[in-house]
Amino acid sequence: MTRKIAFYGKGGIGKSTTQQNTAAAMAHFHGQKIFIHGCDPKADSTRLILGGKPQESLMDLLRLKGVQKVTNDSVIRKGYEGIQCVESGGPEPGVGCAGRGVITAIDLMDKNGAYTDDLDFVFFDVLGDVVCGGFAMPIREGKAQEVYIVASGEMMAVYAANNICRGLVKYAKQSGVRLGGIICNSRKVDREQEFLEEFTSAIGTRMIHFVPRDNVVQRAEFNKMTVVEFNDEENQAREYGELASKIIKNEDFVIPDPLTMDQLEAMVVKYGLAD
Ligand code: ADP
Ligand code: MG
Repeated sequence: MTRKIAFYGKGGIGKSTTQQNTAAAMAHFHGQKIFIHGCDPKADSTRLILGGKPQESLMDLLRLKGVQKVTNDSVIRKGYEGIQCVESGGPEPGVGCAGRGVITAIDLMDKNGAYTDDLDFVFFDVLGDVVCGGFAMPIREGKAQEVYIVASGEMMAVYAANNICRGLVKYAKQSGVRLGGIICNSRKVDREQEFLEEFTSAIGTRMIHFVPRDNVVQRAEFNKMTVVEFNDEENQAREYGELASKIIKNEDFVIPDPLTMDQLEAMVVKYGLAD
């Protein structure tokens, strides 16, 4: 059965990077068949898999050519290790709601049977920490059953993670969506691991993996690749391989129990992150 996964987290935290690197590791080290559906209007969720070639987005094609032209062949590109990629794209800048684009794009892909049964994983890379409207769609309507939140030991990343959990709770009953864990994408802040472990256990989940910060991520990015493709013997490639394997084996899915503002403030103060 295909597992459908959504990555959420604060903007700039490393969702697209972590997702593409993990997908590459899943395909390369573990032979998994992967589909990435980018749901960010920036359409930058699949760049490293496609060697930097900008992909025409589904919404652009829809707008310019009409719905009949939006076929699987016209919107899906194959990249590294045969990973299939689609970008939803967004409305014309300044016009319309970007969230609607996500809904339209996922519905169309579903209708066209793009998420075929032979896939092991479909990843949805969702913009920022917005768990409203269209951006909540993958979890609201059960398009994704599993969520991973990317966070770091920075205060705002943890606030965002807690907010995303609130959104998850709201939709968990109707859609069956569950939290599979928090991925720490390290920003090398003090007591990062300790703080995130306390937070994750307080909300009833766990830190599924601690991904170190490593400049090889940028080096690979300059070469328009994931680290795994750039050099699969790099330590960072192994880290993504380990995260990939933990996700593959994961059986620990929960409805989180988000903290109240007071509880979160107290934890932040305890770790000296507040001014
Ligand atoms: P998001 O999708 O959450 O907005 P991105 O994946 O675009 O964030 O990440 C922003 C930048 O952070 C990327 O361009 C990448 O270079 C950098 N980055 C992400 N994770 C790491 C890491 N583990 N080590 C070093 N740099 C990273
Ligand atoms: Mg992104």
